[in-house]
Amino acid sequence: MTERIGGRDKRGKGARAATRTAVAPSGSGSQSRPEGAGAGKARAPAQAEAVAAAPTKKTIALVYDFDGTLSPRPMQEYSFLPQLGIKASDFWAECTAIARAENADPLITYMHLMYKKAKEKGIRVDRKDLVAQGAAVELYPGVTAWFDEIDAYVRERAGVEGVVVKHYLVSSGLTEIIEGTSIYDKFHNVFASEYWFDAYDLPFPKRVITDTGKTQYLFRINKGIEDLGESINHHMPETSRPIPFSNMIYFGDGDTDVPSMAVMRKNGGYAVAVHPPGKNRGKCVDLFKAGRCDFFAPADYRRGSDLFKRTCLLLDRILADIRVQEEVWRLGRSMARG
Ligand SMILES: [Mg+2]
Repeated sequence: MTERIGGRDKRGKGARAATRTAVAPSGSGSQSRPEGAGAGKARAPAQAEAVAAAPTKKTIALVYDFDGTLSPRPMQEYSFLPQLGIKASDFWAECTAIARAENADPLITYMHLMYKKAKEKGIRVDRKDLVAQGAAVELYPGVTAWFDEIDAYVRERAGVEGVVVKHYLVSSGLTEIIEGTSIYDKFHNVFASEYWFDAYDLPFPKRVITDTGKTQYLFRINKGIEDLGESINHHMPETSRPIPFSNMIYFGDGDTDVPSMAVMRKNGGYAVAVHPPGKNRGKCVDLFKAGRCDFFAPADYRRGSDLFKRTCLLLDRILADIRVQEEVWRLGRSMARG
């Protein structure tokens, strides 16, 4: 078990992120008039009505797993377990054993066991404590600068107005710990597991994101339905979805990411697998050979690394598609104008 889950609505933060980067399509999936190229320019009204709306699918989403992808180890191993004096391997082995014996969901089992162990030791850990533990979480080299570097790359290479990059986290880990990491503000939204802290004697899972459950959040990003209070299941035509899968790249590190990688690739999106730098890349090779990912690379996020270069190749392809759509629209518009 290398990965945990959670999810937290960061709409307020997201609004700031969108303002910072550029003009984003409506998150509601409604077909509002685009504000990108072409919008607001002088045009003959009658003819313009006959021309299809300008391309609006200019938002690119980079979606990350956390444990093993952005950080070398499960986030609970940096502070929570050491604080209790529990060896990480013993804890995860016990989780696996209990889940098997009880036919329990392994994610719910770990969330329960964390607080059962704390109670046994007479240690009370509340939400604030968990958030503070986020500061101890180690990140792979270059992760801190990665988000701004990628944004800058896309800005330089976009070639058309209105292209936006949004970074999302979809993790089985804990929202509370992620909130305390230095990169929390870089995400447009974070979907991760989370606790109720006042429901019972022991904190109770509020939201549990399993491996397959992660895919729900890919569809939420795709459909622009990020409010978890809104159902994701109603039909939405492809043309109405604000971020097509072909504009999305998913980053993960192992078997727990297979459902997400499969959803991405089957829907025209991209997947990248990472492995610890200088260590065994066997899992990535398996994923690559099985067609689960487009690329794999060591988890070195610094500019110039293989991961950076391969990600930029995928971004170049996405940007080229956006430019093609823009050019087709311009051509159609010029024909309609005669
Ligand atoms: Mg992982």
